[in-house]
Amino acid sequence: MDKFKNKDCIFCKIVAGEIPAEKIYEDDDLFAFLDITPINAGHTLLIPKKHYENIFEMDDEILKKISIKLRDLGTSVKGAMKAGGLNIGMNNSPVAGQVVPHAHFHLIPRYLKDGHKHWEGRKYKEGEITKVAGEIRGKVR
Ligand code: AMP
Ligand code: ZN
Repeated sequence: MDKFKNKDCIFCKIVAGEIPAEKIYEDDDLFAFLDITPINAGHTLLIPKKHYENIFEMDDEILKKISIKLRDLGTSVKGAMKAGGLNIGMNNSPVAGQVVPHAHFHLIPRYLKDGHKHWEGRKYKEGEITKVAGEIRGKVR
């Protein structure tokens, strides 16, 4: 796995065992461990072992494996933590809040009134939603 490693990356170092972490799961391609600053206890990070910076770099096969593992690991995290629900999230690029530049998915156990705030939506201006939908449709492959 070393050939896939970025020597300056903290998550690559966790995968290599060079930095300690509370490992939850590991297979040939994936690794999961507890986030050290959890939103709630049990907040878990699922990562590809290979160093991809974000979702845009990840290939189809690894994305398929990750999505299935998100469901299965999510079931385990939610069950073990007796959570009422689970947020699965990913930040891509610093402007979107990504701090660690090794692609990772957050699995966050949720409880009624746990105090965690979601983003607040805003309203579209007159005609804006149609224009925006057209711009995105024009880019859909
Ligand atoms: P993000 O903002 O999506 O890049 O989230 C990065 C996450 O990685 C944060 O929630 C951090 O608490 C977590 N994190 C950073 N360093 C470590 C570490 N050494 N072990 C476990 N989690 C970490
Ligand atoms: Zn890395």
